[in-house]
Amino acid sequence: MDGARTQGHPAALAAVARMIRDGATHAILLTGPEGVGKTTLAQDLAAGLCCTADDPAARPCGDCRACRLVFADRHPDVHQLAPEGVGRQIVIGGPGARTRGIRDLVADLAFAPVEGGARVAIVASADRMNEDAQGALLKTLEEPPAGVVIVLCADAEEPILPTIRSRCRRIRLGPVATREIEMILAEHGAADPPLAARLARVTAGRPGLAIRWAGEPEALRARNELHRSLLDLTDARPAERLTSVRVAAGAVSALTAVGERTGPSRANPAVEPDPGPSDDSSMGSQAEGGGAGTSRTPAAERRRAAEALVGLWSDVARDITLCRLGLASDVRGLDLLDESTVLAAALETHVVTAFIERLGRAGLLLAGNVSPELVLDDLALAWPRRVAAA
Ligand SMILES: [Zn+2]
Repeated sequence: MDGARTQGHPAALAAVARMIRDGATHAILLTGPEGVGKTTLAQDLAAGLCCTADDPAARPCGDCRACRLVFADRHPDVHQLAPEGVGRQIVIGGPGARTRGIRDLVADLAFAPVEGGARVAIVASADRMNEDAQGALLKTLEEPPAGVVIVLCADAEEPILPTIRSRCRRIRLGPVATREIEMILAEHGAADPPLAARLARVTAGRPGLAIRWAGEPEALRARNELHRSLLDLTDARPAERLTSVRVAAGAVSALTAVGERTGPSRANPAVEPDPGPSDDSSMGSQAEGGGAGTSRTPAAERRRAAEALVGLWSDVARDITLCRLGLASDVRGLDLLDESTVLAAALETHVVTAFIERLGRAGLLLAGNVSPELVLDDLALAWPRRVAAA
């Protein structure tokens, strides 16, 4: 695998190397958090299957024409699909549909290979397929076209139909070690050592996200501001908390868009940030209007923002707990270490622990389609209050 681009996932890469050598199953499901390296691994597999290097162990070589075309997203037999449009869903698509979807991908796979080798379909964010799209994909998996490998990349398995999952060979990508991400950033020349240390921690084991953020200095700054605004809730009155959390939800969706719109490992570089209606100011303006109006932001988008904020909030609470335990070197938010340390001394451990449990429940409620605003309001009011230092 001389030209493989995956870094930090030795077991998954070894499994892919075996598929390239011995033949891949027709469907593969790669799961792991956003930015951990799923699409990069899928491209390594696609390149390896199309590669023309003599030695199978060297594939993907990274040098031959086929490898170069795959890595440039231009190989005629490697088809990619990613969520598009408002709500960022993968739809069924097909003739006459405005958005490319699963049916278009299946149509691409119906033709004989242009280059005479393997045909590969990569579906990025497959967990965002809607019901119709999943139904169409299932049909294809039940009667797969000969010589076709379909790779699904998903942040989470649960949204994908069990009947689809059971037809896939599953490979899970776990978080990459902090030290390893620092080395990857250095190898890419993406960040100097102090910045690499901060990015490696804040992106929690996701090298793809670390590289994207290295190229967008605004992202780390915005993330730190959000972290600070959550810490500041400790001293805020209830009404202020409710307003702040809506503003934070708007800011976090803009931050998520930064992570998604750039980056080498994204399947479809043409995906643009969502247009006007999902503008990140709408959650904040809803709070200013007393919270009674209907938000202009699509529901799926608001839920994703709430999920991202719950994730960041978990990091904030985790950092405070680590500071209390004297494990400050393991915190995610290195830039807010002083603030976290001060707060750790002012909050009682069992209160923070109870809040972390509440964050877990919030994740389940959001997955169960409970209103994102309700979930965030509940968290804002439940966040611990500062007590007098002993
Ligand atoms: Zn090659």
